Amino acid sequence: MESNDFILFKESQGNATNNVEYVFQCQNCNSILGDTLNYVCSNKKMEMVVLKRASNVVKGNHIYTSKLGDDVGSAYLLLNCGGCEV
Ligand SMILES: [Zn+2]
Repeated sequence: MESNDFILFKESQGNATNNVEYVFQCQNCNSILGDTLNYVCSNKKMEMVVLKRASNVVKGNHIYTSKLGDDVGSAYLLLNCGGCEV
C-alpha cells in the first residue's frame, strides 16, 4: 500500500524481536473479537485494525464501498460485537 498510515503491527511496536501477542476486545463489554495471529494491518488515522478472521461478531447486511481516503475502492461490511451488539 502507498500510504504510510497503514502499518504492520510489529513495526508499530518498534522492536522486531518483541513477539508479544495481543487480543482485540470490544471496548464496551470486553468480549474478545480477535488476536494478532489474524492481524493484517492497522491505520491510526482511520482508527481501524484489519484482521483476517474475527470471532464473536455480527455482520451487517449492507456492503459499503469507500469512495474517499486511504481505503478508496475497498468494500466492507460493518461489524458489531456479538456480546453487546455495539
Ligand atoms: Zn461488546
